[in-house]
Amino acid sequence: MEIASKPGENIVNVLWPVIAVVIVWFFDEAAMDLGNYVRKKQSVKLESYMYGLLHEKAIKLDLIYFERPDYFDCLARASREAPWRPNSILNNLISMFRGFLSLVLMAGVLAFLHWTIALLLLVVNIPGIWLRLHYAGVLYNFQKEQTPEARKAAYFNWLLTGDRPSREIRLFGLGNYFISLFKKSFLKTKEEEIRIVRKRTLIELISDLVKAAAVLITLLYIAGETIHGTLTLGQMAMFLLAFRQGMVSIKDLFGSMAGLYEDSLFVGDTFEFLNLKENITAVPPVIDLKELNKSISAENISFTYPGNSQKTIDNFSFEIKKGEIIALVGPNGAGKSTLVRLLSRLYDPDSGSVKLDGNDIKHIDPDNYRKLFSVVFQDFMLYNLNAGENIRLGNIEEKNADEKIISSASVSGINDLIKNLPNGYSTVIGTLFDDSRELSWGEWQKIALARALFRDAPLLILDEPSSALDADTEYEIFSRFREIVRGRTSILISHRFINVSLADRIIVLNKGAIAETGTHEELMNRKGKYYMMYIKQSSRFEK
Ligand code: ATP
Repeated sequence: MEIASKPGENIVNVLWPVIAVVIVWFFDEAAMDLGNYVRKKQSVKLESYMYGLLHEKAIKLDLIYFERPDYFDCLARASREAPWRPNSILNNLISMFRGFLSLVLMAGVLAFLHWTIALLLLVVNIPGIWLRLHYAGVLYNFQKEQTPEARKAAYFNWLLTGDRPSREIRLFGLGNYFISLFKKSFLKTKEEEIRIVRKRTLIELISDLVKAAAVLITLLYIAGETIHGTLTLGQMAMFLLAFRQGMVSIKDLFGSMAGLYEDSLFVGDTFEFLNLKENITAVPPVIDLKELNKSISAENISFTYPGNSQKTIDNFSFEIKKGEIIALVGPNGAGKSTLVRLLSRLYDPDSGSVKLDGNDIKHIDPDNYRKLFSVVFQDFMLYNLNAGENIRLGNIEEKNADEKIISSASVSGINDLIKNLPNGYSTVIGTLFDDSRELSWGEWQKIALARALFRDAPLLILDEPSSALDADTEYEIFSRFREIVRGRTSILISHRFINVSLADRIIVLNKGAIAETGTHEELMNRKGKYYMMYIKQSSRFEK
C-alpha cells in the first residue's frame, strides 16, 4: 500500500533543491562580482605599468627625437594603445579559452545528432573570422597612415580648448576658423574609416547569409528527425539549444582570436616606441668626471637639424675657461640656442666633439654630465606647483632647501612677491589648479632664474634670462652679475648689448659660425659686426 506523502514533507523535498539553486546562483553572482573587481584591479595595475614603461622611455629618449614628426606619430600611437591593449589581450585570452571549452562541449552534443552538423557549425563561421582578420589589418594600416592627420585634429582641438591659445583665439577671432580646420582633419580620418567599416559590414552581411542557410539546414534536419520520431521533443530542444550556444561560442572564440590579432598589431606600435634607440649614452671607455676643472671646449663641431638642408652649426670651435663669463650674441637663427644644447649634450654634434677638461663628453654618463649644468632656457618651464617647489626643482636632491630657495628668490628679485602670496612659498602658481595664483610672464621668468641659481652647478647658461624683466630688476641683476654667478663658468645669451658688455669675452655668431670674438672693448675697436649691432641698438636710446 502506497503511503501518501505529507504536504510538509513535499515542501522540505522541494525546499532543499530551491535553497541549493539559490546558493549556487549567489556564488555565481558573487564570483562574477569578485571577478570584475579582480579584473579591474589587475587592469589598473597593468595600465599603470604600461604608463610607467612609456614615461620611462619618453624621459630617456634623445631630445633630437622631439624634433621629428615621425617620433610624435610613434608616440601618439603608443600612448593611445599601450595603456589598454594588454588588458584587451588578457580579456581576449580568457574569452577565447571560455569560447573554446563551450564550443567543444556543444560540438560534442551536436556530433551525437550527426557529425556533419558539428562540422557545419565550424565551417560556416570561417568566412566571418577571415573577414575580421583581414579588416583588422586594413583598419590598422589605415589608422597608422592617418596618425599625422589625427594629430593635426588633436592639435586644432588643443588650440580651441587649451589655456595658452585662448587669448589669441578670442582676440583675433580665430575660433570658427580653427573649428573648420578641426572638422576637416577629423572628418578626413573618420570618413575613410567609416567607408572601410561599411565595406566590411556589407561583406559581413553575405557571410551572415551563409550562416542563416546553415541554421536553416540544421533546423530543418532537427525538425525532420523529430517528425519521424527519431528524436523526442526533449532531444529536439536540447539540440536546438546546443546549436544556438555553439554558434555563440564559436563567435566568441573566433572573435577573441581576431581581437588578439588586432591587439598584436597595435601592441607592435608600443614596442616600436619602446625600442627607439637612445644614442646619447656614455660611449666606452666611460670616464667618471663629476666636475669642471679647467675648461669646456668645442672642436670643429657641426650640426644639422633633421630635415634641414643647411648646417645650423658649421665647423665651430672655441674654449671656455673655468670661471669665465662668456656672452653669445648674434642675429636670430644664428645658432646660439642650438650651441647651448650641444654643449649640454641634449644633442650630439654630427661631427667634431665637445670636450670637458680635454675629454670627449661622449664618454661621460649623460645624466652625470648634465648635473654640471644649470640653465634658464629661452622657453623655460612654468610648473603649476607651489612657488617653493618651482624653485626647488632646480635640484630635487638638495636636502636643506628652504633657506636656499629664499636666497635664490631674493637674488632673482621674486622673494618679496612670493612672501606676499596668500600662502607664501606654499602658494600654487599658475591657473590649472584650485587656490592657485597666476603670475606675470616676467615674474615667471624670475622664478626660472631663481630655479637655475638654486642649482649649484659649475656651469650656468642663461638664454635670454631677462627678456621679460622690468628695467629695475634687469639693472639690479646685471649690475651684480658677477656676485650672482659666484665664480661659476657662465654663458649668457642676450640681444641686449648693455648686458653683454659685462662678459669677459664675447662670441659673435653668424650662420652657425664664429664671426668675431673678444672683449667688449676689443670688438668695439675692431668696428666689425658687433660694433655695428651695438651702435644700432644704442643709437635708438640716444635719439
Ligand atoms: P634666436 O636669437 O632667435 O633665439 P638662435 O641664435 O638661438 O636664435 P637657434 O634657435 O639656435 O637660433 O636656431 C638656429 C637655426 O636652427 C634657425 O635657423 C632655426 O630655424 C633652426 N632650428 C632651430 N630649432 C630647430 C628645430 N627643432 N628643427 C629644425 N630647425 C631648427
